[in-house]
Amino acid sequence: MQITKHTVATLEYTLKDGDGDVLDSTEGGKPISYVHGVGTLIPGLERALEGKGEGEALSVELGPQDAYGERNEQLVQPVPRSELPAEEEIVVGMQFEARGAQGSQVVTVVGVEEDRVVLDGNHPLAGVTLHFDVKVVATRAATPEEIEHGHVHDGTEHH
Ligand code: ZN
Repeated sequence: MQITKHTVATLEYTLKDGDGDVLDSTEGGKPISYVHGVGTLIPGLERALEGKGEGEALSVELGPQDAYGERNEQLVQPVPRSELPAEEEIVVGMQFEARGAQGSQVVTVVGVEEDRVVLDGNHPLAGVTLHFDVKVVATRAATPEEIEHGHVHDGTEHH
């Protein structure tokens, strides 16, 4: 069957950034399954998969506006060192889960100074063009329960 709203699709994929570096891949691992049309995938990828069938392969390039958005430099802010956990050494590249007005978000340490730390609240993939190479491995209709939950029940765990 072709992928449409409430199809469970199983995919193999490789995700690369604009430089061709692999960010994520199912190669050597398990394919992923998702319920189409419930907002699990980023919208641009979901649009590209609409109507595709088992065995089809596609390459999708998504600019930041169709993926994780453009970077917002106002989300790069220094905070006093004293506001961060004291027991850990803070180094560039570390990520924290921070709770803010819009729920929890991941912030990345982009600078460490003597008594303050510069945090970047942008999604790590904000501003990045994404290249997906996707193969549709299997499709089936979602069960009513899967539609209600918005995710796939593969029989191994209940969630
Ligand atoms: Zn469930």
